[in-house]
Amino acid sequence: MAEQPNATVTYGVINETTEFEHRVAITPDIVTRLRKSAVQCIIEAGAGLAAHYTDDDYRAAGAEVADKATVLTRSDCIATVSRLPLADLDQVREGTWVIGMLQSFTDDAYIQELNKRALVGIAMERLPRQLSAAQSMDEMTSQNSVMGYQAVLVAAQAYGSFLPMMTTAAGTIRPAKVLVLGAGIAGLQAIGTAKRLGARVSAYDVRPAAREEVKSLGADFLELGIDLSQGQGEGGYARALSEEERQAQQAAVDRQAAQFDIVITTAQVPGRKPPVLLTAAGVQAMKRGSVIVDCAASEFGGNVEGSSIGTTITPQGVTLIGAPYLASEVATTASALLARNLADVCAHMVRDGKLSIDADDEIDQALVVTEQSN
Ligand code: NAD
Repeated sequence: MAEQPNATVTYGVINETTEFEHRVAITPDIVTRLRKSAVQCIIEAGAGLAAHYTDDDYRAAGAEVADKATVLTRSDCIATVSRLPLADLDQVREGTWVIGMLQSFTDDAYIQELNKRALVGIAMERLPRQLSAAQSMDEMTSQNSVMGYQAVLVAAQAYGSFLPMMTTAAGTIRPAKVLVLGAGIAGLQAIGTAKRLGARVSAYDVRPAAREEVKSLGADFLELGIDLSQGQGEGGYARALSEEERQAQQAAVDRQAAQFDIVITTAQVPGRKPPVLLTAAGVQAMKRGSVIVDCAASEFGGNVEGSSIGTTITPQGVTLIGAPYLASEVATTASALLARNLADVCAHMVRDGKLSIDADDEIDQALVVTEQSN
Protein backbone atom coordinates (compact mmCIF):
# COMPACT_ATOMS: atom_id res chain seq x y z
CA MET A 1 0.00 0.00 0.00
CA ALA A 2 1.47 3.32 -1.02
CA GLU A 3 2.10 5.84 1.72
CA GLN A 4 -0.68 8.35 2.20
CA PRO A 5 0.44 11.63 0.54
CA ASN A 6 -0.23 13.83 3.58
CA ALA A 7 0.73 11.25 6.21
CA THR A 8 3.47 12.71 8.33
CA VAL A 9 3.63 10.35 11.31
CA THR A 10 4.45 6.65 10.99
CA TYR A 11 2.83 4.51 13.70
CA GLY A 12 4.39 1.08 14.15
CA VAL A 13 3.20 -2.10 15.81
CA ILE A 14 5.22 -5.29 16.26
CA ASN A 15 4.13 -8.86 16.86
CA GLU A 16 3.99 -9.46 20.63
CA THR A 17 2.40 -12.91 20.48
CA THR A 18 3.64 -15.35 23.15
CA GLU A 19 2.13 -18.30 25.01
CA PHE A 20 0.24 -15.87 27.29
CA GLU A 21 -0.14 -12.85 25.00
CA HIS A 22 -2.53 -12.97 22.06
CA ARG A 23 -3.39 -9.31 21.84
CA VAL A 24 -2.14 -6.86 19.23
CA ALA A 25 -1.76 -3.11 19.69
CA ILE A 26 -3.67 -2.20 16.53
CA THR A 27 -6.73 -3.43 14.68
CA PRO A 28 -7.67 -2.72 11.06
CA ASP A 29 -10.43 -0.21 11.90
CA ILE A 30 -7.91 1.79 13.89
CA VAL A 31 -5.56 1.87 10.88
CA THR A 32 -8.40 3.59 9.02
CA ARG A 33 -9.12 5.88 11.96
CA LEU A 34 -5.47 6.97 12.25
CA ARG A 35 -5.28 7.72 8.52
CA LYS A 36 -7.84 10.47 9.18
CA SER A 37 -5.29 12.07 11.56
CA ALA A 38 -2.61 11.82 8.85
CA VAL A 39 -0.96 8.88 10.63
CA GLN A 40 0.27 6.00 8.47
CA CYS A 41 0.58 2.53 10.03
CA ILE A 42 3.30 -0.06 9.58
CA ILE A 43 2.68 -3.46 11.15
CA GLU A 44 4.87 -6.52 11.57
CA ALA A 45 3.67 -9.46 9.51
CA GLY A 46 1.53 -11.83 11.56
CA ALA A 47 1.16 -9.38 14.48
CA GLY A 48 -2.64 -9.68 14.62
CA LEU A 49 -3.10 -13.35 13.77
CA ALA A 50 -3.46 -14.59 17.36
CA ALA A 51 -6.29 -12.05 17.76
CA HIS A 52 -7.77 -13.06 14.36
CA TYR A 53 -6.71 -9.98 12.38
CA THR A 54 -4.84 -10.96 9.21
CA ASP A 55 -2.13 -9.10 7.32
CA ASP A 56 -4.61 -8.71 4.45
CA ASP A 57 -7.12 -7.07 6.82
CA TYR A 58 -4.45 -4.51 7.76
CA ARG A 59 -3.42 -3.95 4.14
CA ALA A 60 -7.05 -3.49 3.11
CA ALA A 61 -7.39 -0.83 5.82
CA GLY A 62 -4.39 1.03 4.37
CA ALA A 63 -1.44 -0.20 6.46
CA GLU A 64 1.93 -1.39 5.26
CA VAL A 65 2.92 -4.88 6.48
CA ALA A 66 6.66 -5.37 6.96
CA ASP A 67 9.26 -7.33 8.90
CA LYS A 68 10.06 -6.44 12.49
CA ALA A 69 13.34 -4.60 11.79
CA THR A 70 11.58 -2.35 9.28
CA VAL A 71 8.81 -1.53 11.75
CA LEU A 72 11.32 -0.70 14.50
CA THR A 73 13.56 1.49 12.34
CA ARG A 74 10.92 3.29 10.25
CA SER A 75 8.35 4.18 12.91
CA ASP A 76 8.10 7.64 14.50
CA CYS A 77 5.93 6.14 17.20
CA ILE A 78 5.62 2.52 18.33
CA ALA A 79 2.56 1.33 20.24
CA THR A 80 2.74 -1.82 22.35
CA VAL A 81 0.54 -4.14 24.34
CA SER A 82 3.19 -4.40 27.05
CA ARG A 83 6.45 -2.56 26.32
CA LEU A 84 9.40 -2.98 23.97
CA PRO A 85 12.17 -5.25 25.31
CA LEU A 86 15.62 -3.62 25.58
CA ALA A 87 16.90 -5.51 22.52
CA ASP A 88 14.14 -3.88 20.44
CA LEU A 89 14.79 -0.45 21.95
CA ASP A 90 18.36 -0.81 20.64
CA GLN A 91 17.00 -0.89 17.09
CA VAL A 92 14.73 2.14 17.12
CA ARG A 93 15.89 5.58 16.05
CA GLU A 94 16.66 8.32 18.56
CA GLY A 95 13.60 10.47 19.10
CA THR A 96 11.12 7.63 18.49
CA TRP A 97 8.01 7.70 20.69
CA VAL A 98 7.10 4.51 22.55
CA ILE A 99 3.56 4.19 23.88
CA GLY A 100 2.49 1.41 26.24
CA MET A 101 2.33 0.15 29.80
CA LEU A 102 5.92 1.12 30.63
CA GLN A 103 5.65 0.13 34.32
CA SER A 104 7.05 3.55 35.18
CA PHE A 105 5.79 3.42 38.79
CA THR A 106 7.74 0.28 39.61
CA ASP A 107 10.63 0.03 37.12
CA ASP A 108 12.72 3.16 37.02
CA ALA A 109 15.60 1.29 35.35
CA TYR A 110 13.49 0.83 32.20
CA ILE A 111 12.69 4.54 32.07
CA GLN A 112 16.42 5.27 32.34
CA GLU A 113 16.97 2.97 29.35
CA LEU A 114 14.51 5.08 27.35
CA ASN A 115 16.30 8.20 28.50
CA LYS A 116 19.73 6.86 27.52
CA ARG A 117 18.48 6.22 24.01
CA ALA A 118 16.78 9.64 23.74
CA LEU A 119 13.34 8.06 23.28
CA VAL A 120 10.04 9.67 24.20
CA GLY A 121 8.27 7.42 26.71
CA ILE A 122 4.47 7.64 26.90
CA ALA A 123 3.34 5.66 29.94
CA MET A 124 -0.29 4.52 29.65
CA GLU A 125 -0.40 3.62 33.35
CA ARG A 126 -0.17 7.35 34.17
CA LEU A 127 -3.31 8.41 32.31
CA PRO A 128 -5.42 10.89 34.32
CA ARG A 129 -8.44 8.61 34.05
CA GLN A 130 -10.81 11.05 35.69
CA LEU A 131 -10.56 13.53 32.76
CA SER A 132 -13.41 13.19 30.31
CA ALA A 133 -10.98 13.83 27.43
CA ALA A 134 -8.98 10.79 28.55
CA GLN A 135 -11.85 8.26 28.73
CA SER A 136 -11.24 6.76 25.30
CA MET A 137 -7.53 6.35 26.14
CA ASP A 138 -8.11 4.40 29.35
CA GLU A 139 -6.34 1.10 28.77
CA MET A 140 -6.60 0.06 32.41
CA THR A 141 -10.37 0.29 32.30
CA SER A 142 -10.73 -1.46 28.95
CA GLN A 143 -8.38 -4.33 29.72
CA ASN A 144 -9.45 -4.82 33.34
CA SER A 145 -13.02 -5.00 32.22
CA VAL A 146 -12.17 -7.81 29.78
CA MET A 147 -10.13 -9.48 32.52
CA GLY A 148 -13.00 -9.44 35.01
CA TYR A 149 -15.34 -11.03 32.48
CA GLN A 150 -12.87 -13.75 31.53
CA ALA A 151 -12.00 -14.49 35.18
CA VAL A 152 -15.54 -15.74 35.71
CA LEU A 153 -15.52 -17.90 32.58
CA VAL A 154 -12.19 -19.45 33.57
CA ALA A 155 -13.48 -20.12 37.08
CA ALA A 156 -16.71 -21.63 35.72
CA GLN A 157 -14.72 -23.95 33.45
CA ALA A 158 -12.54 -25.16 36.32
CA TYR A 159 -15.49 -25.61 38.70
CA GLY A 160 -17.07 -29.04 38.68
CA SER A 161 -20.67 -27.92 39.02
CA PHE A 162 -23.20 -25.46 37.61
CA LEU A 163 -23.13 -21.77 38.47
CA PRO A 164 -26.93 -21.29 38.24
CA MET A 165 -29.56 -23.04 40.26
CA MET A 166 -31.02 -25.88 38.20
CA THR A 167 -34.12 -27.88 38.88
CA THR A 168 -33.91 -31.17 37.08
CA ALA A 169 -35.81 -34.47 37.24
CA ALA A 170 -32.80 -35.87 39.08
CA GLY A 171 -32.81 -33.20 41.74
CA THR A 172 -32.18 -29.51 42.33
CA ILE A 173 -28.68 -28.08 42.01
CA ARG A 174 -27.97 -25.14 44.28
CA PRO A 175 -26.35 -22.06 42.73
CA ALA A 176 -22.59 -21.60 43.14
CA LYS A 177 -21.50 -19.03 45.72
CA VAL A 178 -18.99 -16.61 44.23
CA LEU A 179 -16.89 -14.10 46.17
CA VAL A 180 -15.21 -11.21 44.34
CA LEU A 181 -12.44 -9.45 46.29
CA GLY A 182 -11.63 -6.01 44.89
CA ALA A 183 -14.63 -4.30 43.29
CA GLY A 184 -12.96 -1.87 40.88
CA ILE A 185 -13.33 -2.13 37.11
CA ALA A 186 -12.35 -5.83 36.90
CA GLY A 187 -14.27 -6.81 40.03
CA LEU A 188 -17.50 -5.10 38.96
CA GLN A 189 -17.30 -6.77 35.57
CA ALA A 190 -16.71 -10.13 37.31
CA ILE A 191 -19.75 -9.54 39.54
CA GLY A 192 -21.95 -8.74 36.53
CA THR A 193 -20.73 -11.77 34.59
CA ALA A 194 -21.16 -14.19 37.52
CA LYS A 195 -24.67 -12.81 38.16
CA ARG A 196 -25.58 -13.32 34.50
CA LEU A 197 -24.45 -16.94 34.81
CA GLY A 198 -26.81 -17.34 37.76
CA ALA A 199 -24.34 -17.52 40.66
CA ARG A 200 -25.01 -16.03 44.10
CA VAL A 201 -22.42 -13.29 44.30
CA SER A 202 -20.84 -11.45 47.22
CA ALA A 203 -18.06 -8.89 46.92
CA TYR A 204 -15.75 -6.88 49.07
CA ASP A 205 -13.60 -3.79 48.54
CA VAL A 206 -11.73 -1.57 50.93
CA ARG A 207 -13.12 1.62 49.33
CA PRO A 208 -16.37 2.70 51.03
CA ALA A 209 -17.78 3.83 47.66
CA ALA A 210 -17.64 0.24 46.38
CA ARG A 211 -20.44 -0.90 48.70
CA GLU A 212 -23.20 0.83 46.71
CA GLU A 213 -21.67 -0.19 43.37
CA VAL A 214 -21.63 -3.85 44.44
CA LYS A 215 -25.23 -3.66 45.62
CA SER A 216 -26.36 -1.90 42.45
CA LEU A 217 -25.26 -4.98 40.50
CA GLY A 218 -27.45 -7.19 42.67
CA ALA A 219 -24.59 -8.70 44.69
CA ASP A 220 -24.20 -8.75 48.48
CA PHE A 221 -21.46 -6.70 50.09
CA LEU A 222 -19.36 -9.02 52.28
CA GLU A 223 -19.18 -7.67 55.80
CA LEU A 224 -15.76 -8.37 57.31
CA GLY A 225 -16.64 -6.88 60.68
CA ILE A 226 -13.60 -4.60 60.71
CA ASP A 227 -13.48 -0.86 60.16
CA LEU A 228 -11.46 0.01 57.07
CA SER A 229 -13.55 3.06 56.25
CA GLN A 230 -10.36 5.04 55.67
CA GLY A 231 -9.44 2.57 52.93
CA GLN A 232 -9.81 5.11 50.15
CA GLY A 233 -6.71 7.06 49.26
CA GLU A 234 -5.78 9.64 46.64
CA GLY A 235 -7.84 10.07 43.48
CA GLY A 236 -10.54 7.61 44.55
CA TYR A 237 -8.10 4.68 44.61
CA ALA A 238 -7.45 2.33 47.50
CA ARG A 239 -4.58 3.19 49.82
CA ALA A 240 -2.12 0.59 51.12
CA LEU A 241 -3.31 -0.75 54.49
CA SER A 242 -1.19 -0.64 57.64
CA GLU A 243 0.32 -3.90 58.85
CA GLU A 244 -2.32 -4.15 61.58
CA GLU A 245 -5.21 -3.53 59.17
CA ARG A 246 -3.73 -5.97 56.69
CA GLN A 247 -3.59 -8.75 59.26
CA ALA A 248 -7.13 -8.06 60.47
CA GLN A 249 -8.37 -8.09 56.89
CA GLN A 250 -6.58 -11.35 56.05
CA ALA A 251 -7.94 -13.08 59.16
CA ALA A 252 -11.49 -11.98 58.32
CA VAL A 253 -11.23 -12.97 54.64
CA ASP A 254 -9.66 -16.33 55.57
CA ARG A 255 -12.57 -17.03 57.94
CA GLN A 256 -15.24 -16.21 55.36
CA ALA A 257 -13.73 -17.68 52.19
CA ALA A 258 -14.59 -21.26 53.19
CA GLN A 259 -18.31 -20.65 52.56
CA PHE A 260 -17.69 -19.85 48.86
CA ASP A 261 -17.24 -22.17 45.89
CA ILE A 262 -15.40 -19.64 43.73
CA VAL A 263 -13.20 -16.71 44.80
CA ILE A 264 -12.04 -14.14 42.26
CA THR A 265 -9.47 -11.58 43.39
CA THR A 266 -8.74 -8.33 41.54
CA ALA A 267 -7.30 -6.02 44.24
CA GLN A 268 -4.55 -3.59 43.31
CA VAL A 269 -3.03 -0.48 44.87
CA PRO A 270 -1.53 1.79 42.19
CA GLY A 271 2.27 1.55 41.96
CA ARG A 272 2.58 -1.18 44.60
CA LYS A 273 2.75 -4.93 44.91
CA PRO A 274 -0.82 -6.30 45.13
CA PRO A 275 -2.02 -6.87 48.71
CA VAL A 276 -2.41 -10.45 49.96
CA LEU A 277 -6.09 -10.82 50.89
CA LEU A 278 -6.36 -14.57 51.30
CA THR A 279 -3.56 -16.48 53.04
CA ALA A 280 -2.47 -20.09 52.60
CA ALA A 281 -4.49 -20.98 55.72
CA GLY A 282 -7.62 -19.49 54.13
CA VAL A 283 -7.04 -21.45 50.93
CA GLN A 284 -6.52 -24.62 52.94
CA ALA A 285 -9.85 -24.12 54.73
CA MET A 286 -11.82 -23.99 51.46
CA LYS A 287 -13.86 -26.98 50.29
CA ARG A 288 -12.45 -29.58 47.89
CA GLY A 289 -13.44 -28.54 44.37
CA SER A 290 -13.43 -24.80 45.10
CA VAL A 291 -11.78 -22.55 42.55
CA ILE A 292 -9.76 -19.38 43.10
CA VAL A 293 -8.80 -17.05 40.23
CA ASP A 294 -6.14 -14.53 41.25
CA CYS A 295 -6.12 -11.82 38.59
CA ALA A 296 -3.40 -9.90 40.43
CA ALA A 297 -0.92 -12.81 40.30
CA SER A 298 2.59 -12.04 39.08
CA GLU A 299 6.05 -13.45 39.61
CA PHE A 300 6.12 -11.33 42.79
CA GLY A 301 2.92 -12.88 44.18
CA GLY A 302 -0.70 -11.74 44.03
CA ASN A 303 -3.81 -11.40 46.20
CA VAL A 304 -3.63 -15.04 47.28
CA GLU A 305 -0.70 -16.36 49.24
CA GLY A 306 1.10 -19.03 47.23
CA SER A 307 -0.46 -18.15 43.89
CA SER A 308 1.79 -18.21 40.86
CA ILE A 309 1.09 -17.76 37.19
CA GLY A 310 -0.75 -20.82 35.87
CA THR A 311 -2.89 -23.44 37.57
CA THR A 312 -2.07 -25.35 40.75
CA ILE A 313 -4.27 -27.77 42.63
CA THR A 314 -3.63 -27.84 46.35
CA PRO A 315 -3.38 -31.13 48.26
CA GLN A 316 -6.85 -30.29 49.67
CA GLY A 317 -8.28 -30.17 46.12
CA VAL A 318 -8.65 -26.39 45.67
CA THR A 319 -7.83 -25.16 42.16
CA LEU A 320 -5.76 -21.96 42.32
CA ILE A 321 -5.41 -20.14 39.03
CA GLY A 322 -2.96 -17.23 38.88
CA ALA A 323 -4.01 -15.45 35.72
CA PRO A 324 -2.81 -11.92 35.02
CA TYR A 325 -3.10 -12.65 31.28
CA LEU A 326 -6.87 -13.09 31.13
CA ALA A 327 -7.54 -10.10 28.87
CA SER A 328 -5.31 -11.73 26.28
CA GLU A 329 -7.62 -14.77 26.22
CA VAL A 330 -10.37 -12.55 24.79
CA ALA A 331 -7.85 -11.23 22.31
CA THR A 332 -10.13 -9.98 19.53
CA THR A 333 -12.18 -7.69 21.75
CA ALA A 334 -9.34 -6.79 24.10
CA SER A 335 -7.20 -5.75 21.10
CA ALA A 336 -10.02 -3.70 19.58
CA LEU A 337 -10.43 -1.69 22.80
CA LEU A 338 -6.69 -1.41 23.46
CA ALA A 339 -5.94 -0.32 19.89
CA ARG A 340 -8.43 2.54 20.27
CA ASN A 341 -6.93 3.57 23.65
CA LEU A 342 -3.37 3.69 22.22
CA ALA A 343 -4.30 5.35 18.95
CA ASP A 344 -6.28 8.07 20.71
CA VAL A 345 -3.19 8.89 22.79
CA CYS A 346 -1.12 9.17 19.61
CA ALA A 347 -3.76 11.24 17.79
CA HIS A 348 -3.99 13.54 20.83
CA MET A 349 -0.29 14.29 20.49
CA VAL A 350 -0.25 14.83 16.72
CA ARG A 351 -0.26 18.61 16.35
CA ASP A 352 0.17 20.36 13.01
CA GLY A 353 0.97 17.01 11.44
CA LYS A 354 3.77 16.20 13.91
CA LEU A 355 4.09 14.42 17.22
CA SER A 356 4.64 17.05 19.88
CA ILE A 357 4.27 17.59 23.61
CA ASP A 358 2.15 20.43 24.92
CA ALA A 359 3.56 21.27 28.34
CA ASP A 360 0.24 22.87 29.33
CA ASP A 361 -1.87 19.86 28.39
CA GLU A 362 -2.91 17.73 31.38
CA ILE A 363 -2.82 14.46 29.48
CA ASP A 364 0.63 15.18 28.03
CA GLN A 365 1.94 16.26 31.42
CA ALA A 366 0.86 12.98 32.98
CA LEU A 367 1.85 10.53 30.26
CA VAL A 368 5.28 11.74 29.13
CA VAL A 369 7.94 10.06 31.28
CA THR A 370 10.98 10.79 29.10
CA GLU A 371 11.50 13.45 26.49
CA GLN A 372 13.99 13.50 23.68
CA SER A 373 17.06 15.08 25.25
CA ASN A 374 18.86 16.03 22.05
P1 NAD B 1 -7.39 -1.09 40.62
O1 NAD B 1 -7.27 -2.01 39.46
O2 NAD B 1 -6.26 -0.22 40.99
O3 NAD B 1 -7.81 -1.95 41.93
C1 NAD B 1 -8.90 -2.84 41.93
C2 NAD B 1 -9.70 -2.72 43.19
O4 NAD B 1 -8.97 -3.29 44.29
C3 NAD B 1 -10.05 -1.30 43.62
O5 NAD B 1 -11.43 -1.15 43.67
C4 NAD B 1 -9.41 -1.17 45.00
O6 NAD B 1 -10.17 -0.37 45.88
C5 NAD B 1 -9.36 -2.62 45.45
N1 NAD B 1 -8.44 -2.90 46.57
C6 NAD B 1 -7.18 -2.47 46.76
N2 NAD B 1 -6.68 -2.92 47.93
C7 NAD B 1 -7.66 -3.67 48.50
C8 NAD B 1 -7.75 -4.42 49.68
N3 NAD B 1 -6.73 -4.48 50.56
N4 NAD B 1 -8.90 -5.06 49.94
C9 NAD B 1 -9.94 -5.02 49.08
N5 NAD B 1 -9.92 -4.34 47.92
C10 NAD B 1 -8.78 -3.68 47.64
O7 NAD B 1 -8.65 -0.14 40.50
P2 NAD B 1 -9.57 0.23 39.24
O8 NAD B 1 -10.47 -0.89 38.96
O9 NAD B 1 -8.75 0.72 38.13
O10 NAD B 1 -10.44 1.44 39.80
C11 NAD B 1 -10.45 1.87 41.12
C12 NAD B 1 -11.21 3.19 41.26
O11 NAD B 1 -10.92 4.11 40.24
C13 NAD B 1 -12.71 3.04 41.22
O12 NAD B 1 -13.24 3.98 42.11
C14 NAD B 1 -13.10 3.44 39.86
O13 NAD B 1 -14.44 3.86 39.75
C15 NAD B 1 -12.14 4.55 39.66
N6 NAD B 1 -11.97 4.81 38.22
C16 NAD B 1 -12.31 6.03 37.76
C17 NAD B 1 -12.20 6.27 36.40
C18 NAD B 1 -12.58 7.60 35.87
O14 NAD B 1 -12.73 8.53 36.61
N7 NAD B 1 -12.77 7.70 34.59
C19 NAD B 1 -11.73 5.33 35.53
C20 NAD B 1 -11.38 4.10 36.04
C21 NAD B 1 -11.50 3.85 37.41
